[in-house]
Amino acid sequence: MHIYGKMAAPARLCRELVFPRRCPVCDRPVQPFGALICPSCEGVLQRVQAPACSRCGKQLGLGAQGLCRDCRKLSHVFERGCTVFTYHSAAGGIFRFKYKGRQEYGAYYGRCMAQKLCENVGGVFGRPDMLVPVPVSAQRLQKRGYNQALILAEEISRLTAIPVCEKVLRRVTDTLPMKNMTPAERQNNLKKAFQAFGNDVELNSIMLIDDIYTTGATMDACAHALYRQGARRVCFITLAAGVDSGY
Ligand SMILES: [Zn+2]
Ligand SMILES: [Zn+2]
Repeated sequence: MHIYGKMAAPARLCRELVFPRRCPVCDRPVQPFGALICPSCEGVLQRVQAPACSRCGKQLGLGAQGLCRDCRKLSHVFERGCTVFTYHSAAGGIFRFKYKGRQEYGAYYGRCMAQKLCENVGGVFGRPDMLVPVPVSAQRLQKRGYNQALILAEEISRLTAIPVCEKVLRRVTDTLPMKNMTPAERQNNLKKAFQAFGNDVELNSIMLIDDIYTTGATMDACAHALYRQGARRVCFITLAAGVDSGY
């Protein structure tokens, strides 16, 4: 289980004296001590800038506007979304964050996501009532030991005071790996993969949290389950997404 998100600041610093925090870009102990990323490494991560897809937030090519290629082809269930980094600039760190136990990167990633969320809150996104991490299956959770989306959500929550409600969404089936599937196959693969629970808490405006956005099939499946349980608005924020491939 991860411990970073809930640790108080003094406890964090003590831990970092023993186990120096590693940099999400170079993976070496962060210099200077106490920072979340080496200042010299920060420039490697490319932030998504305008123009971005008006639906999913993916970086568009210079001079493009409106929707990305995937959003022109697919009708999405989620309302809209945004993302912090371009995938290729952040891929190495995200891999270690997800599969190599580098949960400590979540502090930096979460801070960047909280900043992005705050930039958007005054505009079309509004302030969500709750953060919902995209769940992984019980099987995968047992194997990996943690859900990286929950680590991100808890860090964002710590900085924005928007509560995390992980219990409202559950992954009920483990799906086939989707790497080589078309967007339509992905959507089909994920039908019925998620179940929402709205009995204990009012599902009003929800911000889904995940590490990577690809075609949106996962977000759509989550949004579908949440809307069926009465959610009014489902948007998302992810750490990274690919760049629009154009036509
Ligand atoms: Zn570094
Ligand atoms: Zn898009």
